[in-house]
Amino acid sequence: MCPDNERVPPTVYHVSEEENKEEERKNGRLAETEDFLSVDKSYSSSKTEYVPRITWPDLLAQIFIHAGCLYGLYLIFTEAKLLTALWVFVTVYTSGFGITAGVHRLWSHRAYKAKWPLRLLLIFLFTITGQKDVYSWALDHRIHHKYSETDADPHNVKRGFFFAHVGWLFTTPHPDVIAKRKTADMSDLEADPIVMWQRRLYIPLFALLTIGLPVIVPWYFWSENLWTSFWVNFNFRFCVTLNIAFFVNSVAHMWGQRPYDKYISPVENVAVSIAALGEGWHNFHHVFPWDYKTGELGNYSYNITTAFIDAFAYLGWAYDRKYVSPEMVRRRANRSGDGSHVWGYGDKDIPHEDLQELKLMDKKER
Ligand SMILES: [Zn+2]
Ligand SMILES: [Zn+2]
Repeated sequence: MCPDNERVPPTVYHVSEEENKEEERKNGRLAETEDFLSVDKSYSSSKTEYVPRITWPDLLAQIFIHAGCLYGLYLIFTEAKLLTALWVFVTVYTSGFGITAGVHRLWSHRAYKAKWPLRLLLIFLFTITGQKDVYSWALDHRIHHKYSETDADPHNVKRGFFFAHVGWLFTTPHPDVIAKRKTADMSDLEADPIVMWQRRLYIPLFALLTIGLPVIVPWYFWSENLWTSFWVNFNFRFCVTLNIAFFVNSVAHMWGQRPYDKYISPVENVAVSIAALGEGWHNFHHVFPWDYKTGELGNYSYNITTAFIDAFAYLGWAYDRKYVSPEMVRRRANRSGDGSHVWGYGDKDIPHEDLQELKLMDKKER
């Protein structure tokens, strides 16, 4: 059953700076890292009393998506043609690059640059996934990195698995999230006409590419029943892609190893990496969010998005790829905590010497 905010006693979420420090003192983190953490030091929880409330239209949308997903799964085994089931698989794993190589590594983190044909391809793929417009997705993602595990993190994992996985999408945001959304520097995306065009036309594009294209293809090319195609190719497919992305916010912030920073929640999780085209190396990614590979050890088979970007770099459509050198890893180890809260390339809190090295990387613009 869904939670009922009439019956659940109101919970006040806020962690003051002092409480944070007390907790950190207890686990020994503060002594090691107090001097050189690159968190946004100007931020501490506003301590605003916050009673999270359910936003019912969003909750109903999630219930519809997930109930429809089960019906779609049933139809795959009882009604759908084999080609339709294969089409789901193909659509999930091609459109996924729009999330991983597109809205995540390119637009949220500026980990590499892309010429307009690649940006157009990525935004086409990303729109098929139906995960909001690029601007909104990247905004929340930058806030997530910059204020990770605080009141200002939109899907703060300290509020539990369910909240980080999906609950944040149908709960009123903490006032600190709203405040930080207004202060984030998004000027690079505002200057990208492809991003702003997709934002302006998002509703018709959703109808056309998230619903229309995936549903119509099986009907037109191999005479799939339109009813079956809708529940399988819109609902089931949409829900599967959503939950794979949700796993990065929930599972990859909870279960796995933390070889780069044991004091933050993100982990290295191989299963999430396989499902999410290489996005499960999340401890590394929160430490070095500008790295276009989002991982140090994942090779192409566990990080197919890196292969995708490298292939387009070979064509000259992707360039200026940023990645972590062994020296950066060493410096990071020495500082034991620096760099864990930057949103990507261009963040003012990237250490100066790392920035100097990043500027020289893969400069060749074709
Ligand atoms: Zn990220
Ligand atoms: Zn994260």
